[in-house]
Amino acid sequence: MSILIKNGYVIYGENLDVIRADVYIEGNRISKVGKNLNIGADYVIDARGKVISPGFINAHTHSPMVLLRGLADDLPLMEWLQSYVWPMERKLKPEHIYWGALLGIIEMIKSGTTAFVDMYFHMEGVAKASEEAGIRAYLSYGMVDLGDEEKRNAEIKETLKLLEFIEKLDSSRIEFFFGPHAPYTCSPELLKWVREKADESKKRITIHINETKDEVKQIKEKYGKTPVEFLDELGFLKSDVTAAHGVWLTDREIEILAKKGVTIVHNPASNMKLGSGVMPLEKLLRAGVNIALGTDGAASNNNLDMIEEMKLVSLLHKVHNLNPTLADARTVFKMATQNGAKALNLDAGAIKEGALADIVVIDFNKPHLRPITNIISHIVYSANGNDVETTIIDGEIVMLDGEVLTIDEEKALDKVQKIVDELR
Ligand SMILES: [Zn+2]
Repeated sequence: MSILIKNGYVIYGENLDVIRADVYIEGNRISKVGKNLNIGADYVIDARGKVISPGFINAHTHSPMVLLRGLADDLPLMEWLQSYVWPMERKLKPEHIYWGALLGIIEMIKSGTTAFVDMYFHMEGVAKASEEAGIRAYLSYGMVDLGDEEKRNAEIKETLKLLEFIEKLDSSRIEFFFGPHAPYTCSPELLKWVREKADESKKRITIHINETKDEVKQIKEKYGKTPVEFLDELGFLKSDVTAAHGVWLTDREIEILAKKGVTIVHNPASNMKLGSGVMPLEKLLRAGVNIALGTDGAASNNNLDMIEEMKLVSLLHKVHNLNPTLADARTVFKMATQNGAKALNLDAGAIKEGALADIVVIDFNKPHLRPITNIISHIVYSANGNDVETTIIDGEIVMLDGEVLTIDEEKALDKVQKIVDELR
């Protein structure tokens, strides 16, 4: 298929140069960007008054957790988990996970996310939902062994089952990730197994690290070192690791993360809502650490809107440091696009010839996005996910003029409502 998007404001290349141009997509790649392209295409999209942007990459979420949206808010972390989240999660069957993931994916597509990194259980359902919806998905089974050998073997079995399922699916958009949950929930034996298997299979790893003060304390008491030092001494940290949160980090840990080429995924909404803390963004950036952006699960956000997440990053670090020059719009926009692509080793995240066609069209014909002055500023500070009008992933139009073409949205909304009404 070929698509020609005409007359838009194109956010071009890694430097985010805004140019008035057309974008021509052939197959799954961007073939040409230029003024007045006179090329016949199977599909022509008029983007007058609209912005052609790279799609957003949600580098850390738990998509089926939309099933838990609004279940309980405003509680201390342990009470929230023990009294609400975990009891509900114990009731979730594979079918529930499929429908939950589908709802989450529809929400992501509608708000301009073209790829996401996920960690949960019954992940085969998430893979199925991603394949049907046409989104790019990096899927991990969240492993927790708490030092128990029997549990470890069961978790390893689940992980290998997902790996096999995704290999068999043989989709160009769906990739397997190893997903050890965190250093405080996984034994050194399990973490070492993951590293060995990742090296052997050339698959990447996602994990949570240093999210709360409490878990850092736990690790220090148990192993006599900080979580990042602990992981580093296991030989776990390499450039194929995408680690979520990184809120409580020492200077020494930041140095190690930079040296090993680990990507840290910032989740500002979740960190604020759960009262976890403020990530040392400036220090990490100065050290040269690749910082991507994620929404985390909808239970602690409570949506999957990457455009909203960009604004939150910027505002959080400005007020926390009493410095309005920090987390500027361009830096934050790169976190949500090209830095995420770098973490995934994905040839997307920027609009340029030859890159994968993961593109969104954002409608600027709206009062809150006029006058058109600084496009990047408008997207980060004024827009929200609802302004995304068209989403193209891997050269396929997945949403057009606000309508998801791949999935019956109404059916998914109804089905999720029924599931949650029955489970509560
Ligand atoms: Zn998470």
